[in-house]
Amino acid sequence: MSEFGELHTYRICLLPGDGIGMEITAEAVKVLEAIALREDVSFAFAEAILGGAAIDETGTALPDATLEVAHAADAVLLGAIGGPKWDTTDPTKPRPEQGLLGLRKALGLYANLRPVRIFDALRDASTLKPEHLQEVDMLIVRELTGGLYFGERAREYGVPGAGGNGAAGQRAYDTMDYQEYEVERIARVAFEAARSRRGRVHSVDKANVLESSRMWREIVHGVHGTGYTDVELIDQLVDNTAMQLIRWPAQFDVIVTENMFGDILSDEASMLTGSLGMLASASLGDGTALYEPSHGSAPDIAGQGVANPLAMLLSVELMLRYSFAMEESADRLGRAIEAVLDEGWRTRDIADESTPDERLVGTAAMGDLVAERL
Ligand code: NAD
Repeated sequence: MSEFGELHTYRICLLPGDGIGMEITAEAVKVLEAIALREDVSFAFAEAILGGAAIDETGTALPDATLEVAHAADAVLLGAIGGPKWDTTDPTKPRPEQGLLGLRKALGLYANLRPVRIFDALRDASTLKPEHLQEVDMLIVRELTGGLYFGERAREYGVPGAGGNGAAGQRAYDTMDYQEYEVERIARVAFEAARSRRGRVHSVDKANVLESSRMWREIVHGVHGTGYTDVELIDQLVDNTAMQLIRWPAQFDVIVTENMFGDILSDEASMLTGSLGMLASASLGDGTALYEPSHGSAPDIAGQGVANPLAMLLSVELMLRYSFAMEESADRLGRAIEAVLDEGWRTRDIADESTPDERLVGTAAMGDLVAERL
């Protein structure tokens, strides 16, 4: 509440997108309205089109009007984009992904945060034995706009000797390229995140081989030494991390790493939770941040009201934490989701043969259950 007795209003740009995006975004709004009822804040929503829906309406996946709404907001909440209707290999045709990539670029979202949290009630959903999942609760901080995916690349033809046995052939290369400021800013994101968690950062690199990793390591240590010595910093080689994630995942609190390493490790770590419908993500930059579930638009179940909205609601939890500094509300939302799962409520994707029919619910009912427990 401000000194004038007015509620602070957070402006949220809603991008439902395509497929199940619409259904899960409605549950996010429901839960945010339930939070606003008990807090001295209000949420104002501005909805805009992105992806396939935007292609249908305007011919482009990221209309200027959508970008304007996103820039003006305090945070962007995205459902999912894409679907078979817009699949094409014709490079002259617009594709839904162009909307998301364009938006990330326009908002300068260089840090992708993906929490991997195992809910006790879903412990059996993982392919790992339950005893290996005790106390697993980690955050992967992946650098999102540099590194191997953005460095110089080329493919050359007719290169003498490249075909073998002295014959001409093809050659291709990609470059892992980082600048100091790119490593510095992602390191800060990781240390700040660790401070509000268990205070430990694993900086993952390949410093025994790669020059870019040696620079990465030096810079991360520099940032650590000039303001984050309260956080524990551990260097780990990426091949070792891939093994440790399966051997003893509970050792990790925050992992910070290069773009491609983060891409691979976060997919590996996602299997600890056992379900795509449970993974949230936040993409942060200098301005407006973007929150979205890690899954896609699930065209196979779109319109049926059976999608799991929990990855979306966990993304709302991240938004409350990172964009609005509403730690208590974020914790409460996390506990509400946990309580609903502990009580045995399941959407189809996380149900098993032990789930009684009366505990099997659809998208809207799952949203209602979480909102009630807030
Ligand atoms: P997907 O994540 O949409 O679906 C994979 C499987 O998981 C499907 O069987 C689906 O039914 C299920 N699933 C996904 N989310 C679920 C949920 N919340 N509840 C219950 N089940 C869920 O991946 P896909 O099928 O490979 O891709 C479909 C479309 O989504 C494609 O057009 C793809 O390009 C797009 N996509 C978008 C994003 C994004 O918007 N960020 C990410 C990945 C894929």
